[in-house]
Amino acid sequence: MNKRIKIFFSLFIVSFLECYSTTHSIHFSDFKFLRDLDQKNEINITVDSHLNNVGKQFQINNIHPKKIDAVLMNGKIAQYENDSVYYINGHLIIKNGKIKAITKSKIKIEKLIKHRKKFGLIDVMDLKGAYVYPGFIDAHAHFLHQGIALNSINLLGTKSWEECIERVKHFVKKNPNKKVYRGQGWDQNDWELTEFPNNSNLESITDKPIILSRIDGHAILANSKALKISKIDINTEISGGEIIKNNENLTGLLIDNAQSLLTIQEPNNQEKSEALLAAQEKAFQFGLTGIHDAGLPSKDIMLIDTLQRRQKLKIPLYIMVSESEDELNYWLNNGPLKTKLIDVRSFKFYSDGALGSRGALMRKPYSDRENHFGSEIRSFDYMLSAAERIANNGWQMNTHCIGDSANRRMLNIYQLFIDKLKKNDLRWRIEHAQVVHPKDRIAFGLGIIPSVQPSHATSDMNWAINRLGPERILYAYSYLTLREVSGGILPLGTDFPVESMNPLNTFYSAIYRKSMHDKSQPTFQIQQALSREQALIGMTRDPAFASFQENEVGQIKIGMWANFTIFTSDILKCPQDSISELKVLQTWVHGELVYMFNKK
Ligand SMILES: [Zn+2]
Repeated sequence: MNKRIKIFFSLFIVSFLECYSTTHSIHFSDFKFLRDLDQKNEINITVDSHLNNVGKQFQINNIHPKKIDAVLMNGKIAQYENDSVYYINGHLIIKNGKIKAITKSKIKIEKLIKHRKKFGLIDVMDLKGAYVYPGFIDAHAHFLHQGIALNSINLLGTKSWEECIERVKHFVKKNPNKKVYRGQGWDQNDWELTEFPNNSNLESITDKPIILSRIDGHAILANSKALKISKIDINTEISGGEIIKNNENLTGLLIDNAQSLLTIQEPNNQEKSEALLAAQEKAFQFGLTGIHDAGLPSKDIMLIDTLQRRQKLKIPLYIMVSESEDELNYWLNNGPLKTKLIDVRSFKFYSDGALGSRGALMRKPYSDRENHFGSEIRSFDYMLSAAERIANNGWQMNTHCIGDSANRRMLNIYQLFIDKLKKNDLRWRIEHAQVVHPKDRIAFGLGIIPSVQPSHATSDMNWAINRLGPERILYAYSYLTLREVSGGILPLGTDFPVESMNPLNTFYSAIYRKSMHDKSQPTFQIQQALSREQALIGMTRDPAFASFQENEVGQIKIGMWANFTIFTSDILKCPQDSISELKVLQTWVHGELVYMFNKK
């Protein structure tokens, strides 16, 4: 059998078996999806043969063996009624990964436990009065990239090239089995000697390839092994970039386009699989039970789907497809993909850049750079024609908009399709909605969803005023106002790895408008603070709505997936100072305990 056919058949058989081993049915289009992508992108499914090792390496601490049916006794179970939250002191019964009952009756529970064989009950957990919340969902993050960052050498904040070398040595010693060592975050401007480094000090550390990316992604320092594998030598030429040399020797520095000469620049499927599992481990520790990934290409979506079908990746992901002509053609022709763990029915667009690097598109010039308006990533016409195709096909369009011009432009485009959006309940989203002119806010009352990141406000507060000036800052990061205009729908996210993954950071930033980790920081526009209840709803019910999953997740209700984030304290009442100290006691996904706090 040729290799491709073999891969297809192995996928088919495994998927077929899994289809029968779970209650979820898989449609024919799923197989077609896997096959098409496999043929189109020549995806190397070597990942399958590595999975056993990967699983061993990343075995999640404290994880139970598979326990699907369970009773959680004596919890304080959070319930939502509009914008208020109350608790039921009671017990949860889970069947087939979903909430079968919420009961106050101890007798009912005792009867179940007594006849556990008859009821097929596997697990009984006494929560001893702990607080059970709907599983947290991050409405905007980069899950795969977080994993890649976790598995890389962190060079952020280094004070010298020597310090970078020390960090590389330490990482290599701790991770002797890696095939490629990746690092990111060095910035020679932060060093005492502000010159570009060269690779001479990297040579003795390992005989494997090392590639270290500069903080802005515009330069890579590679060791000679990495250059050799990529067949880069003294005679290699490149346009739109530079291979830096010193006296006819390569220094290992590759600038701009020259970086693309590195054949190992992008992690392979095995590295990506390891990254996804590392990100999952951290996510469960933080109580995250779902992530909206803000933009991935199909080849990565397929890898994730494969890992989920093999039950290695258990975290539910709502994935936005990174837009391109090919991706639009592919997905709009083939239709959405939905299993119990993956949901693909939306596209991610970029309208402009970021405020920090003055890439956000502004209506008037930046206050700290003359005649500079930021950058338009996609033209109005491009966005308009893409929006039309997406609206006609009933997909969701999610666009990164930071500057007031970018927000206005996209809100205007979205409104051209408002009848269709309303009629077909398309829930188009503006990601970030950071600087929205008061005149433009009204569009969020027409069914367009603002998807925001409270920790961006507290991270940017010290310098955002320089970029925007005293007038525009008044309508930036206006989360409470956006929530009011949008009829109480405000999904909250972090944009990790740009910010910390910890959802408590989002919670704290949203309600106190300052960083959880800097007690001395003043508050930023406290009038835009959310209540604790609004923030909790923004981390659970609102992301569920923004992903069309409000009947599946986001609340603790009969028939929904048993996804819970459990704390020993009441996060709605505990003192402000103790929020940063809160530890997730347990995380449950689809009725399975995926993380339990270990006191040790
Ligand atoms: Zn993002």
